[in-house]
Amino acid sequence: MIAKKFLSTAAEAVIDFLFAPRCSVCDAYIENRRDMFCPRCRETIIAVEPAPEIPSALSSVWRITRYREGSREMLRALKFNDGRRADEIAQLNAIRRILELTNDRRLNDLIERSDFAVPVPLHANRQSERGFNQVELIFNDWLNERGLTINSVLRRVKDTKHLFDLNREERRAVIDGAFDIVEGASIDGKTLLLLDDIFTTGATMGECARVLRANGAAEVNGLVLAADF
Ligand SMILES: [Zn+2]
Repeated sequence: MIAKKFLSTAAEAVIDFLFAPRCSVCDAYIENRRDMFCPRCRETIIAVEPAPEIPSALSSVWRITRYREGSREMLRALKFNDGRRADEIAQLNAIRRILELTNDRRLNDLIERSDFAVPVPLHANRQSERGFNQVELIFNDWLNERGLTINSVLRRVKDTKHLFDLNREERRAVIDGAFDIVEGASIDGKTLLLLDDIFTTGATMGECARVLRANGAAEVNGLVLAADF
């Protein structure tokens, strides 16, 4: 009897420890599971700002969060899929919650005057390996609610490795000629919102925007979940 009582108490403690709601950014305990963030992180994580320096083919690039002080761990769980599906879903939900909490007039204006959104594409090899393009998963519902659809008119024709370890010049060389327009896509005269998860040097977004403009897009603006600038 005592042993059974002890076991059930121990089990409860383990369950409490494992499933107590915690902040998705800093891991602090939170009162309400639905909040997903502690009050402090909720205050600071959304930091909508335009990038001060952008490649010439882009008219603007907007970030929603700071990368290092906020969304880094969440994005890493999605980007480097290690097969832990539950983690991925939790992190994706946290990211979607950030978007739900984001209501910035400047972003709303940009979304309203865009014709459609275009995700930076993965190479077909990597997409089939991972099963999804995380950029679409992140933004799709949020943009749809605001009346903007995602249209994957870009494709990656060169399978590039992760660019994290490369400097600005190396990135540019690797990314050159990596993208093309999907056959039959109609972008002539359109205002496009280019989507990516992380913005660092802007080499990837710049090359995507260059290809879109070269194929007739009137204007390309960028929207990224996270950037440090
Ligand atoms: Zn927190």
